[in-house]
Amino acid sequence: MAIITARSDCGCSDLAVRCNRLVKFCRAALSPYISTGERFSEDMINRILPDVYLIEIPLPKNPLRVLNSYFFRGGERNLLIDTGFNLQDCWVVMEDALRQLEAGIDDTDIFLTHAHSDHAGLVEYLATPNNRVLMGEQAVLILEMGLRDRKFLAASALHLHQSGLLAAGAPFTPGEEAVVKYASNKAVRLTKLREGDRVKAGRYDFICVETPGHTPGHVCLYEPNKKILVAGDHILDSITPNIGLWTLNRDALGEYLRSLDKTAELEVELVLPGHRNIFQNMQGRIADIKEHHARRIQNVLNIVGREAMTAAQAAAQMEWDLTYKTWDDFPFNQKMHAAAEAMAHLYHLVCQKRLKMSCAEGIYYFRAL
Ligand SMILES: [Zn+2]
Repeated sequence: MAIITARSDCGCSDLAVRCNRLVKFCRAALSPYISTGERFSEDMINRILPDVYLIEIPLPKNPLRVLNSYFFRGGERNLLIDTGFNLQDCWVVMEDALRQLEAGIDDTDIFLTHAHSDHAGLVEYLATPNNRVLMGEQAVLILEMGLRDRKFLAASALHLHQSGLLAAGAPFTPGEEAVVKYASNKAVRLTKLREGDRVKAGRYDFICVETPGHTPGHVCLYEPNKKILVAGDHILDSITPNIGLWTLNRDALGEYLRSLDKTAELEVELVLPGHRNIFQNMQGRIADIKEHHARRIQNVLNIVGREAMTAAQAAAQMEWDLTYKTWDDFPFNQKMHAAAEAMAHLYHLVCQKRLKMSCAEGIYYFRAL
């Protein structure tokens, strides 16, 4: 699940306004493609391209507000991309949308951009013996491990200790976190996708592009002829995808920056993201996100001095685009994500040999060289 660390620049505080803006944007930007003949109830489905529909799945009590699910109508098989939380509110909208689209679920394959529960949570209701659920190889492992051992989903407990957040006396109730609470509960048959694999949906012929960073196993779908990128949470328009490090086994930020560079080489005219607005200027957005992380890296370098500090201590001093006055006012959930984001930046700087790291009693400390 992404977390908002940069203020939305759309200026819309209310969903209805945002939806209208989206529809207007789509119609203005894509007017040659839009059929005005189709009408769906409550604007929850919008036809955005020939045979392509956006289904807005609500994410109740979540700052992301909505998951963008995309339905591609195919000749023999349809393709549904991402699902929403494993939550009745999400299922009601998804079920109604598929009914309105007259989409038989047995005729619809499901592609999950990554394993986070706002994208994969409903899959247990959508998978049947007659359709396929497709996702990146690493994401399959995450989903399967999460099902085998739900504590895995709360592996953040380890991160909380490593980041120094637990030592600072923070309470932790992993079962209450959305990533655990709204995850799929049942094992489904998953088909692994790798870099370069093809996923066909009617007139759209996608190539899988592995884009780890936001989470391991994140995969985007690229349509080279139509120049469309289905981006999941890799690139979002008005918010910055959360890049957090939950276990010290990978340079998540380094992976993410490399994935951005790789994506920048694609010729893309339209980005279909997992949240917020569909947008066109992918190159500009990638440049903005890279600049954001360059600023964040400098912010961290300015904070970490010769005296060793934990990721939680660094997070408490970092700049956050949130409304809380002090670090103590942050809800625990936000502290957890903030510490993970601090850890991603700190560990990236260690990998670049720009900071030193040491460990005492399982807690990691960082200091200037
Ligand atoms: Zn998401």
